[in-house]
Amino acid sequence: MNPSDPKIGVYVCHCGMNIAPKVDVEKVAGFAGTLNHVAVTRDYKFMCSNPGQEMIIADIKNHGLNRVVVASCSPRMHEPTFRKACQSAGINPHYFQMANIREHVSWVTQDSQQATIKAMDLVKGAVARVVNHRPLESREVKVEKVVLVVGGGIAGMQAAITAADAGYKIYLVEREPSIGGHMAKFDKTFPTLDCAACIMTPKMVVVDQHPGITIYTYSEVTGISGFVGNYTATIRKKPRYVIEDRCTGCGTCMEKCPSRKIPSEFNEGLGNRTAIYSPFPQAVPKTPVIDPDTCRVLALNKRCGACAKFCEADAIDFDQQSENIEISVGSVIVATGFQAFDPTPLASYGYGIYPEVYTSLAFERLNNATGPTAGAITMQDGRVPARVAIIHCVGSRDTRHHTYCSRVCCMYSMKFAHLIREKTGAEVWEFYIDVRSPGKLYEEFYNRVQEEGVHFVRGRVAEVTDIAEREADQGRLTVVAENTLTRKTMRLPVDMVILSVGLEPATGAKELSRLLNISMDGDGWFTELHAKLAPVATATGGIFLAGCCQGPKDIPDTVAQASAAAGEVIALLARGTVTTRAEISHIDPDLCSGCRLCLNTCIYSAITFDEGLNVAQVNEALCQGCGACSAICPSSSASVDHFTDRQVMDELEAIL
Ligand SMILES: Cc1cc2nc3c(=O)[nH]c(=O)nc-3n(C[C@H](O)[C@H](O)[C@H](O)COP(=O)(O)OP(=O)(O)OC[C@H]3O[C@@H](n4cnc5c(N)ncnc54)[C@H](O)[C@@H]3O)c2cc1C
Repeated sequence: MNPSDPKIGVYVCHCGMNIAPKVDVEKVAGFAGTLNHVAVTRDYKFMCSNPGQEMIIADIKNHGLNRVVVASCSPRMHEPTFRKACQSAGINPHYFQMANIREHVSWVTQDSQQATIKAMDLVKGAVARVVNHRPLESREVKVEKVVLVVGGGIAGMQAAITAADAGYKIYLVEREPSIGGHMAKFDKTFPTLDCAACIMTPKMVVVDQHPGITIYTYSEVTGISGFVGNYTATIRKKPRYVIEDRCTGCGTCMEKCPSRKIPSEFNEGLGNRTAIYSPFPQAVPKTPVIDPDTCRVLALNKRCGACAKFCEADAIDFDQQSENIEISVGSVIVATGFQAFDPTPLASYGYGIYPEVYTSLAFERLNNATGPTAGAITMQDGRVPARVAIIHCVGSRDTRHHTYCSRVCCMYSMKFAHLIREKTGAEVWEFYIDVRSPGKLYEEFYNRVQEEGVHFVRGRVAEVTDIAEREADQGRLTVVAENTLTRKTMRLPVDMVILSVGLEPATGAKELSRLLNISMDGDGWFTELHAKLAPVATATGGIFLAGCCQGPKDIPDTVAQASAAAGEVIALLARGTVTTRAEISHIDPDLCSGCRLCLNTCIYSAITFDEGLNVAQVNEALCQGCGACSAICPSSSASVDHFTDRQVMDELEAIL
């Protein structure tokens, strides 16, 4: 036998109780032994375990194997594990092929006999393919020790501070006029009821003053190209019409602005703002923005300019234009958070119809010392409510809207109940489906509010109406609900209703997912690479997730995840280089027709065109081996290492 002839070892994994109960693994291993070039076959409980890998390494050394096939789980899970085992035994890691007999067979095939046949077919294909594998070498590419953080809520800030403290340069991009995100709207946080501003504002100041962090507020990422370690991002900075370097944040412009009746977005429409405004007193940066849609000069072309007239720093600039800034970064942390569910379509709850029906975010502002009532919980007419209803799961756990649980609503509803009882002494009634309080000190908080006299009614609310049963309740609202424990319908007169709205992905998440080439789940949350083993990484190298953009979560989990994302980034960039994929594309100049279709297809800008030779060429440093050029090439001149026509066709032919 020629020493370069293929000599293959085939290893069939039981994966504990995942594969073996459905697939006859011994039969599959026996079958593999009958295939051409196969010298060793074995089955084992857990091939990925240390003894499993040791078995492969020993066989390579003792039997002179030069190719390995493992039939087990998805390559996404353990291909790197087995490639490393091959490498440590002295053979090129690309002389390895995996057959996925778990996700593609045992988990999805009901009949045991069929599953075994299917597993044998996949093993046959893998053996045929690995025969044609070629040795490939990875390359080391220098990385930019710079991080782009998208979203300046608590997640983005935490990630930015952690990575900046480790010595990395950070660009923090926030689309609103100030950093802070949703937490900036809260007064108290569950379950400890500590003051949100006392935790939040110092963090905002740290971000603002950190020498390693540059903040771009009122800005969005509009383009990104490149690959792990070497991305180029374009940031569009919208015009504030106020020169940041000059503005002292004195606030005179806002005092003098005559346009005063614009509903405040930050206060959720409770209270007004001026056309030149800062969303809240502790905003970072403190430079206000002029709203071009409501400013008399910008929107109506009227003579005004009161802000400019009174600005001693001469900071107003009505001619300011948007600006595009290009930055080079090694890694990206996405921290774009969530938006609250809009309950307007649920007309039966009366939101937008009755002024005393509030969303939870509006209630946060009502209760906040910096809010429209300076923290007094009062109705629109200034009276203190005597009875308040809180309706859980609005938009969540509802097949017509979001089927998932938003995870924080039960807890913030109980926070509201405590605050209402404490500030007003009002009766509070919580209407819930199930109370979910799985967190540190959360169940204790639930017990506490029950002891404080809060009423809990298990049942979905059917309707909020202004039709009162008794004369004495005229002018109040009535909550109609079925108590599913007593099986009785109740009509409860109340003065105020709070809708505990669920969380949904932030607007623009879909566009951002396309821009960054990261995936989303069916509900629109960004998807992690692996739910258990890589919960903050994405399938795109160098791009990580932090906070609610990945799914609803409370502040402790958000902060933990943001720190984890920063940790991953630090680990990635610390070495100064990254190992790129060995599987890259090649264009055969003899076959290339010069049609240039591949140039526009390549999202990594890795293909250039040689006008003199009239052929396309691949820049090996930029190519990520995605295969798009190979798929579109009409002359079959482009091919990707490890996915050559020969390799793919041999695998298919063997299976079929
Ligand atoms: C009513 C209510 C009360 C709550 N109370 C509590 C509580 O008491 N305790 C607790 O632990 N949790 C609470 N939570 C949950 C808490 O709000 C979240 O855990 C936390 O805000 C998540 O932070 P984040 O940074 O991931 O997202 P966010 O706070 O949503 O911040 C995301 C930021 O990204 C920005 N952004 C979005 N898209 C882009 C883009 N494309 N480009 C640039 N910037 C972008 C947004 O403007 C925002 O500033 C509550 C939630 C609600 C709805």
